[in-house]
Amino acid sequence: MASAIPLVDMRAQYQTLRDEIRASWDEILDTMHLFLGKNCDAFEREFADFCGTRFGCAVNSGTDALHLALRAVGVREGDEVITVSHTFIATVEAIIQAGARPVLVDVEADTCNMDVAQVEKKINRRTKAILPVHLYGQPVDMDPLLDVARRHDLRVVEDACQAHGALYKGKPAGSLGDAGCFSFYFSKNLGAYGEAGMVVTDDPGVARQVSLLRNHGQETRYVHPVMGYNCRIDELQAAVLRIKLRRLSTWNELRRRHAATYTELLGESDLTLPKEAPYAKHAYHLYVIRSRERDELRHWLSERGVETGIHYPIPVHLQAAFTPYSRPGDDLVITEQVARTVLSLPMYPELTDEQISTVVGAIKDYLERR
Ligand SMILES: *Cc1c(COP(=O)(O)O)cnc(C)c1O
Repeated sequence: MASAIPLVDMRAQYQTLRDEIRASWDEILDTMHLFLGKNCDAFEREFADFCGTRFGCAVNSGTDALHLALRAVGVREGDEVITVSHTFIATVEAIIQAGARPVLVDVEADTCNMDVAQVEKKINRRTKAILPVHLYGQPVDMDPLLDVARRHDLRVVEDACQAHGALYKGKPAGSLGDAGCFSFYFSKNLGAYGEAGMVVTDDPGVARQVSLLRNHGQETRYVHPVMGYNCRIDELQAAVLRIKLRRLSTWNELRRRHAATYTELLGESDLTLPKEAPYAKHAYHLYVIRSRERDELRHWLSERGVETGIHYPIPVHLQAAFTPYSRPGDDLVITEQVARTVLSLPMYPELTDEQISTVVGAIKDYLERR
């Protein structure tokens, strides 16, 4: 009987950070400066530097980063925003929260990312923005997308919530469009110990709008040029994120090494393995294989102590919640195929070679049994 291997293990990492995090939390709690303080300011600078952007504006989740970024680039009631159905539902929720209508395009079979060639035929006079999702940690093919956006005068907001440190032709994910949105949900490549997110941008107008909107539209105390929201980040989270950011590149390299090991060991099987596109440096937030026998394989692995995930089992356009926004004739064939076949294997920096061979051994046993 193999030992239990989780999909993600946050405990191992905490042990290496424990003293540093406790010390910084003590300092914050002793001063009781809990929101938008020096850790927030420093983290915004440090993460913007990491992304190679001029500004970073921290908020309290990836969902809010997307919502406020869409508003800040000018998305208004009645506008349309083009995105994908094969994503976490927050991408589409943010569009609806901004008052706009989500328009969904299919994904490419190879990368499971937005099929950029499908975007242009969805553009009409109400289209305001495109929201590509760098799913699993691999950037969307941004050059042709930015070209379409430029030709139609559309804004581009990147959902980089799974792509901290991923590169597109050498440039950081999140730095390519008008704004880039990150989540620091605990299991992301860079994760807080609560909720947090950030919008990065080179545009001072977008940065200013996001920083107003996140704090009740407040400019200085009790002075409100616009109506806003409560989307502030707290200092405890900013402090954790600063400590972890210093390790992020090392952790991402470990993820890439684990991915390479999986790919090498699973190479001869008839599973579909993740492909790193020639333009991409993948951050491997998730290592996602595809199999027509996904559910049987998942059950087999679970019985052998290997936890797996499905990201995501029901595409957004097939969710009950999406009914009011759906359009007849939406044809998302690849998206539906992908949703039926994807399986996420255990992936986190602290994963050991021994654990990887256990996972691979269990998969091979399943395949040979047939
Ligand atoms: C995690 C995630 C979000 C939402 O981030 P939260 O911080 O959980 O609000 C949005 N989009 C994608 C693709 C995500 O993976």
